[in-house]
Amino acid sequence: MRAVDVIQKKRNGEELSTEEIEFFIRGYVSGEVPDYQAAAFLMACCFKPLSARETADLTEVMRTSGDTIDFSGEISGYTVDKHSTGGVGDKTTLVLGPLVAACGCVVAKMSGRGLGHTGGTLDKLESIEGFQTELPRDEFVSIVNEVGVAVCGQTGNIVPADKKLYALRDVTATVEDTALIAASIMSKKLAISNQGIILDVKTGKGAFMKTKEDAIHLAKRMVEIGSLMQKDVVGLVTEMSIPLGRAVGNALEVQEALDTLRGDGPQDLVDLCAELGGRLLQMAKISPDLEAGKAKILEALENGDGLVVFEKMVKAQGGSIDSLYNLPKAKGVMEVPANSNGWIKAMDALEIGNAAMRLGAGRETKDDPVDHAVGIVLHKKVGDKVEKGESLATLHYNKDQELASIVEQVQKAYFYASEEVPSPPVILAEVNSQGSTDFEQEA
Ligand code: URA
Repeated sequence: MRAVDVIQKKRNGEELSTEEIEFFIRGYVSGEVPDYQAAAFLMACCFKPLSARETADLTEVMRTSGDTIDFSGEISGYTVDKHSTGGVGDKTTLVLGPLVAACGCVVAKMSGRGLGHTGGTLDKLESIEGFQTELPRDEFVSIVNEVGVAVCGQTGNIVPADKKLYALRDVTATVEDTALIAASIMSKKLAISNQGIILDVKTGKGAFMKTKEDAIHLAKRMVEIGSLMQKDVVGLVTEMSIPLGRAVGNALEVQEALDTLRGDGPQDLVDLCAELGGRLLQMAKISPDLEAGKAKILEALENGDGLVVFEKMVKAQGGSIDSLYNLPKAKGVMEVPANSNGWIKAMDALEIGNAAMRLGAGRETKDDPVDHAVGIVLHKKVGDKVEKGESLATLHYNKDQELASIVEQVQKAYFYASEEVPSPPVILAEVNSQGSTDFEQEA
């Protein structure tokens, strides 16, 4: 077999065999297939999309390209994972993990760091003094067994094929292909032995998938792959034109997660956690149906059980409870005044995420440091009435440079209407092994 023939076959729109995909990807990881041939292959995949079977084969060969982690003999209970395709103000893991653990699921979560306009769970947790995100395997397993939830960074050589392919996709304009994204995400999710996986596929200006239709298509691909691997997988397509909750920035988001676990969270975040968590409890057969699952999640929120688990996790991972309640604070705050009267009809989450990154909350390149204290707290979101001069948001800053231009950037992320606008739904569609439901069409 020759790499050039595999590229040609794909370029001509023919379906590749399992052996051809294995040959090509293994060859690329080992260095026998050079970057220029892999780049041509990826571009061919963008023009002649991979079939469902080819995508599943690609996922499997990527998944097994390095270490896989099997907790099944060491962790008891139904293990679940949640994946978000990335958004602005997305602190869901911090709230959902403790809530589902309080309800009886087991969460052994490997999370990532933020890049560009989207934040990362590890950066958020590291706002808490002493919190360790690098844990030896034994310690991680024992915290999961003791507390029901632990969150750490990826260790070992998991899915090296994705590291190599993603870096190449990034510089060859081949990131956006649905099958390539599905294989990239699912190879990493399936490299770890969780039983139930909930996928939060974001759509809108602040997300990878700009339209709901594209997000549904990606969710279908990922659910298909997970089902083939005998996992329980459900995908929810959720709104990301508007940041989630009100806080954007690491310590500010931890504070909002804490407030939410104390029963004082923003409604969109509470709704999202109930929808995701309810489905996980249903998968785990802890709750007989979705409504019962959602009710149980909300109960754990109201009676403080989720907060107790969160505090236990923080302590077990080396964080001090004192610093959890005294998170880092920025040296200054500045209000962003509205430059018009009316109702907020739309927002640009991408601009808000970029503004937070410019304040220092995120990184432009993967080796940049983050400033845990800085960020943005939004006072107005879609559906809210606003008067000219009223504060849209507060910037929390440590550096004075560029503040005026960041204020302007946040102002430009708001769009006004002269009449009342309803606030949009958070959950737009669901994809599961039985099919898909578009909630907006149903309404
Ligand atoms: N996230 C991933 O992990 N992979 C992609 O290809 C896109 C988003």
